[in-house]
Amino acid sequence: MIIIAKTSQDAEKIAAQLDTKNPIKPVFVHNNRVALAGVKKLPEDALKSISQYIVETITNHHSAIKSSRDFHPENTIITTKYSVIGGANFVFMAGPDSIESPEHVKEMGEDVKQAGATILRGGAFKPRTSPYSFQGNGEEGLKAHRAAADALKMDMVTEILDTRDVDLVDSYTDIFQVGTRNMQNFALLKALGKKNKPVVLKRGMSATIDDLLNAAEYIAAGGNDQIILMERGIRTYDNKYTRNTLDVSAIPVLQSLTHYPVVADASHAAGVSKFVEPLALAAIAAGAQGLMTEIHDDPSHAFVDGAQALTPAQFKQLTEKANKVREAIK
Ligand code: PEP
Ligand code: MN
Repeated sequence: MIIIAKTSQDAEKIAAQLDTKNPIKPVFVHNNRVALAGVKKLPEDALKSISQYIVETITNHHSAIKSSRDFHPENTIITTKYSVIGGANFVFMAGPDSIESPEHVKEMGEDVKQAGATILRGGAFKPRTSPYSFQGNGEEGLKAHRAAADALKMDMVTEILDTRDVDLVDSYTDIFQVGTRNMQNFALLKALGKKNKPVVLKRGMSATIDDLLNAAEYIAAGGNDQIILMERGIRTYDNKYTRNTLDVSAIPVLQSLTHYPVVADASHAAGVSKFVEPLALAAIAAGAQGLMTEIHDDPSHAFVDGAQALTPAQFKQLTEKANKVREAIK
């Protein structure tokens, strides 16, 4: 049950009355209203003694409260140095899967910037299915990525895998990326909740929409509400022709449930470069507020994820079509 109070003083009075071993902490909600979440069903007399402080009681609400549009109807808009994300804005995030070398990330950055991207992506810490695969260039990669982003006046987004690296990655990046495999790494989500920096939260490959909203709530509960939700394809039974199934329906559904921007990554959904463009356009048609795309100038020699990488020319074509689709659905 969620109890809504008018002020935090009232919320504290209610909390003090609640007989609980698990202290109920007020969760700030909206318009000066304060919510107490996780309240067990109260006996009538207990409810009576605090009724004067209660504005509203809500039962059967999903547990993601700060993330919910019910309490925060306006879209969250996130402003970084070179990008505005959310609302009616649209953002292209693009770059190689991994930071391969300082020269390479800079060249790829030039190409994607020229095509309209404002956020340069690239992994320095790579979550690989096999421990014997390339694991990323670590801090050297972060340095090269930062230098390229600065030189090109772009924002940097990079994946964080481990709570122990939060401060290191924080010292380089503009935006954290939590990958599909870490969407429910609660320790990591809590650590990012303490940072005043945007987080791209990718949907777990087997996560439901409520799982994703609750993962976002972990970040928000810590005090960080600069969250960008990313649909990147979910695991389904047919993985012969695509790597994952892009859940296009998740885009409008999430937008109806949450005020956070919802963007799409068609690269990991498709897994095959020729399917990236149609899936990306479908995501935009469904209302995605941004796209993340992997590119490479020599896909067959990419360190990671070459099969799904667009060439810079293909990416340019994608952005042109993407802008036409955006125009068409205005
Ligand atoms: C990536 O962006 O390179 C990545 C590893 O993505 P995901 O977590 O969606 O697999
Ligand atoms: Mn990748």
